[in-house]
Parts: sequence; C-alpha cells; structure tokens
Amino acid sequence: MVQKVKIVVIGSLNMDLVVVAPRVALEGETIIGGKFTAMPGGKGANQAVAASRLGAQVHMVGCIGDDGFGRELREHLRVGNINTDYVTTVPDASSGVAMITVSERGENSIVVSPGANDTMTIAHVKQAETIIREADLVLIQLEIPLEVVEEAVAMAKKHQVTVILNPAPARQLSEVLLKQIDILTPNETEGRIIVTGQAEGDIREEAIISFLRNKGVQNVVMTLGGEGVAYSEGGSAGRLKAHTVEVVDTTGAGDSFNAGLGVYLAEGGSLEAAISFAQKVAALSVTKFGAQPSFPYRSQVDRFQD
Ligand code: ADP
Repeated sequence: MVQKVKIVVIGSLNMDLVVVAPRVALEGETIIGGKFTAMPGGKGANQAVAASRLGAQVHMVGCIGDDGFGRELREHLRVGNINTDYVTTVPDASSGVAMITVSERGENSIVVSPGANDTMTIAHVKQAETIIREADLVLIQLEIPLEVVEEAVAMAKKHQVTVILNPAPARQLSEVLLKQIDILTPNETEGRIIVTGQAEGDIREEAIISFLRNKGVQNVVMTLGGEGVAYSEGGSAGRLKAHTVEVVDTTGAGDSFNAGLGVYLAEGGSLEAAISFAQKVAALSVTKFGAQPSFPYRSQVDRFQD
C-alpha cells in the first residue's frame, strides 16, 4: 500500500442545524417548519473529512466548545479517521453553530455563531508545531481569527511546508501574508473582496489573478462554480472547464475542491493535474445533498467519468 500523505487542516468546526421550512421566516415571525437535521460542518472540518476520504492521513487543528455538539464534532472526525489530538475543547465556550433555514423554494437564511472557533489563539498553533513541521501540506481557511491564520502560515513556511489558503469567508489580507501563500484558492466573489473590499463590481478574473500575483502569491487557483477554474502558476495562466454533472446541491463544493487539490499536490502531482483531480472531487460532491455527506471517496474519484 502506498504511504499516505500527511495533511494538517487548521480551521473551523461547526454543527450545522438545518430546518426545512415552507419559506424563510420574516423578522419577528414564527413559522412551523419541517424536517430538522444536525450535520457536522465548518470549512475546516469539511476539508479535513474530504481529504481523509481521498486517502490522506489528516490532523485537524481547531477549537470546540465544552458541550454536546463539541463532543459530537470530535467523535465524528475520529470516526472519519482524522486525528483530533490538536482539537482543543475550550472551557466555557460553546461550539461553533450555523442555524440554517432552507425554504422549499431553495432560498436559505444562515446565522453563524463562531463560538469556540473565535477563541482559537496563536498558542493553539504553537502546540501543533510538531505535526505542522512533519506535514506534506497545510490547508487553512478564514473561519478562525486572522492572527491565528498568520501564525499558522508563518510556521508552515518556516518548515518549508506547502500552504493552501482558501480565503473563505473573504476579507482583505496583508501583503506579508499573501507573499507566503503557495496556493490561494478564492472563488470569484472572494477574489473580488480580497482585491477591492467589495463583493460586487466589474473587476474581472484576469485582473484579480494578476493583482494577487503582483502581491506575491505564488499560484492562484480561482474557482468559478459551474464554469470551472482559472489559474495562474508562476508566470503562466490557464483555464480548465468544470465537469458536466446533474447538480443537486453545491454546498461544500469549494471545500471538497480544496481537499482534492491539497491531497493531489501532496502526492507530488503538478498543479494542473491537481486541479483536474479536484474538479472531479467537486463535481461528484455537487451531485449529492449536503456538504460532508456529499464528499466522495478516492475510489469513486478514480472511477469518475462525465
Ligand atoms: P465555492 O463552493 O467555494 O463557492 P465554487 O462554486 O467556485 O466554490 O465551486 C468550486 C468547484 O466546484 C468549481 O471550480 C467546480 O470544479 C466545482 N463545481 C461547482 N459548481 C459546479 C457545477 N454546477 N457543476 C460542476 N462542477 C461544479
């Protein structure tokens, strides 16, 4: 059996509390909904689960609350073969929760309480230095405090470990941070926010990518939903089309894409081959409902043809 690559995911863990309702409630209104589901989520945990299913040995670094959700979130990772030694239970904090209403018409409303994710500190990253140093690749998102992200990236670079930063949810990032990123993976909206501070606007993908390259990002991989990916590797740029699949739910597409990209790169693949692999992973994920339940296993990706 081939040696598994080692991936460290540094980021958020949430419990997603989802109610299906005839419509989203108005301010001050109570309506009766239908089915309720509690599903483990958070971009960090999602990417960890996706990477583990693709065959990586995954360590998660993050924070949960000292509550029932926290215990479930940890157990869920453990069952998914993810090491949780560096998932800290924070006393007096509640676990991150996303309260989601999905209407029968497909609208949704989401309120996130970051809880323990927001209590993550530089000290948590320092505690995990042993595993970061030994990793083949580190995957980070922005659902934890920015100074923690900055410390984690600096630590990975100190040990010459490749870093993918998935800048979601987007915010403007310092040049010092951008210069240290091997691969930045915004979607189009996130790219626009990093560059202009605004989600809307006329700025085109080429301009976003060249802005980020000029700030020192080594490689930019911009996901374009059903359109695929635009990327820039060193000096050269390219585009790859998305696969044509029957779309059921695109929740978690970006998370599964990032995990696929990370696993394939850690295995020694080229950036272009890693993007192709990641697009297969993400295409399979949009054919199923939910985030984590939709993430494919390696054998399914290897068999995938559209
Ligand atoms: P995010 O979920 O972060 O917004 P995107 O919507 O850009 O990210 O999707 C990430 C990747 O998932 C895309 O680059 C593509 O490979 C795949 N994907 C997303 N939507 C579709 C779709 N409708 N059909 C096929 N692939 C898709």
